Amino acid sequence: MKRNLIALLPLLTVSAIGLAQDDGMFRMNEFAKPKKREIINIPDAGGYQVLKVDFHMHTVFSDGHVWPNVRVQEAWQEGLDAIAYTEHVEYTPHKADVKVENTRSYDLAQSMAAENNIILVKGTEITRKTPPGHFNALFIGDASGYIADNDSSKDKEAIMKAASQNAFIFWNHPGWQVDNIEGSYEWLDFIDELHKEGILGGIEVFNGLGFHKKALDWAMDKGLTVMGTSDIHNLIAHDYDLAQDYVHRSMTLVLAKERTAEAIREALEAGRTVAWSSKYLAGKEEHIKALFDASVTVGASYHTKNGNNYYEIKNNSDLYFELALKSGDGTQKITLYPSSSQTITAKSGQESLQYELVTAYIRSDRHPVVMVNLK
Ligand code: ZN
Repeated sequence: MKRNLIALLPLLTVSAIGLAQDDGMFRMNEFAKPKKREIINIPDAGGYQVLKVDFHMHTVFSDGHVWPNVRVQEAWQEGLDAIAYTEHVEYTPHKADVKVENTRSYDLAQSMAAENNIILVKGTEITRKTPPGHFNALFIGDASGYIADNDSSKDKEAIMKAASQNAFIFWNHPGWQVDNIEGSYEWLDFIDELHKEGILGGIEVFNGLGFHKKALDWAMDKGLTVMGTSDIHNLIAHDYDLAQDYVHRSMTLVLAKERTAEAIREALEAGRTVAWSSKYLAGKEEHIKALFDASVTVGASYHTKNGNNYYEIKNNSDLYFELALKSGDGTQKITLYPSSSQTITAKSGQESLQYELVTAYIRSDRHPVVMVNLK
């Protein structure tokens, strides 16, 4: 009797499952996008954590095309550490359909960001006529009293609203609309005034797919923090060819003491940032070198032929490096794809080779020089 019952059990179980599933639906969940967060692998550099941050994004609460939660989903999928919504104060083209409230996107995204371990920085975009154009303010307070019209006579007053809240302020895409300017975009008297008064903390060098080369020189000459941002209005996947393995949205790599909003603020004030746009880096030489040194290792020589040693050079990060030999006798050009290695050769008896890192910029016309140490 007992044996018969046990023999029946599998049959009962199977038919119970069969009944439960037979609700007239066949679910094809196997075709859904897998839920997973990408890891952007960048080792600690120069004693700091390297945080991946986008400080410039839009939603329907200004002139973007998405609801705020979509930005959290994108940032989570891409492996970002922190984001900031920066809706235009003075430009709200969806106002007939979406109630105007500058930091509403921040409010709506807060709990989702917290649940997904994404740091949310409260920001806004102060959108004056060009020139001087647009400014982002981060770590702001209540934005309801900000100046909503873009009358040029109120430019200073508009920025002072953010400054009075002790915001971190940076000048956005200085070369935007350069086609409408005779010659080129310039360091303006108005910007100089903000800079001299200590109101301007940073400058965008990478904005979306634009490299504002003069802005990098100004960052170096004036001591401004280098910023890279997406300034995304559409879906990230709509604007970036993420299928290429080294393509990421343009962002700022923040060399922070820890993974907190306070540490991000401290790093911005201290100028410890590198702008990153897929293949390209821009920033201070010491920070780019720190990223390179933390990412790249060379093994011991494993073979010798005709007086040349063979080495394996590894890129242990998701950054992309192209190197051109500057001094020493070895492989002329090296491309280090993300998380991969290459074979290089060097004439025996050398301790190191010097390379120009041609996919990184420390000025508009200068690349950093890095050492490849040989054992
Ligand atoms: Zn913007």
